[in-house]
Amino acid sequence: MEPDVAKPAIQRPCDSAAHEGPRAAAPAVIDLRGVAKHYDAAAGPVPVLAGVDLTIVQGEAVALKGVSGSGKSTLLHILGAIERPDGGTVNVCGQDLVGLDARAQTSFRARQIGFVFQFFNLIPTLTARENVIAALEPLGGTRSSRDETAVCALRSVGLGDHIDKYPAQLSGGEQQRVAIARAVAKRPPVLLADEPTGALDETTARQVLALLDAVRREHGCAVVIATHDPAVAAHVDRVVRLERGRLVGEFP
Ligand code: ADP
Ligand code: MG
Repeated sequence: MEPDVAKPAIQRPCDSAAHEGPRAAAPAVIDLRGVAKHYDAAAGPVPVLAGVDLTIVQGEAVALKGVSGSGKSTLLHILGAIERPDGGTVNVCGQDLVGLDARAQTSFRARQIGFVFQFFNLIPTLTARENVIAALEPLGGTRSSRDETAVCALRSVGLGDHIDKYPAQLSGGEQQRVAIARAVAKRPPVLLADEPTGALDETTARQVLALLDAVRREHGCAVVIATHDPAVAAHVDRVVRLERGRLVGEFP
């Protein structure tokens, strides 16, 4: 079933004849400079990111490619204030993320970041509605307004008939739709998706990519999709690739 999503409300930057025009005009929501990260292993430090520069503007969708282990998830975690880099600057939504303590990171994530994961990460003991409401709770508001927002988000991803079902009663594609509704219900300026089609069949994967595209157009959020899925190129403005800790092959 096609998602019942609103028609595109924003212009895709690459649709313009003046290729860089809208991009140049839109404000940057993500700005990384010289981002470095290593992990400590038994055999010594393992460098993962070695000087990543990246600017993404409002409403732009970027696919992040790279072989397994190239640091895609690490980079998304840094963008989403889950991890801190060892060096460089990370500015997301005007906020310097490097200096945030754990409490400020949590608050930043709750308000500014929607995260979609490969295996959906829904809470199995909560219904679709309750999963979305759980993501809205840190933002306050009334119980009825959270409920209304959650139902609206689930309808917008085509799940109006499944609102009170548990994850186990939904297909993989439907679970990922719940996860997308949960990620965007709070209308975050940044949506991060880590291999969002990695656990789905090809047809469902295409539907999920189309849904992420539609959500981005409706909400005007910046979207970063880490993926191996070649189909993603049709749904983003740019593809960037991580190789040996750096971003290469950027195609605006
Ligand atoms: P990708 O998402 O592209 O597969 P990751 O960002 O998950 O890559 O991982 C990059 C590298 O960092 C891998 O070699 C991985 O083993 C290592 N790594 C990731 N997270 C940790 C961690 N928490 N501790 C130690 N090493 C890690
Ligand atoms: Mg990964």
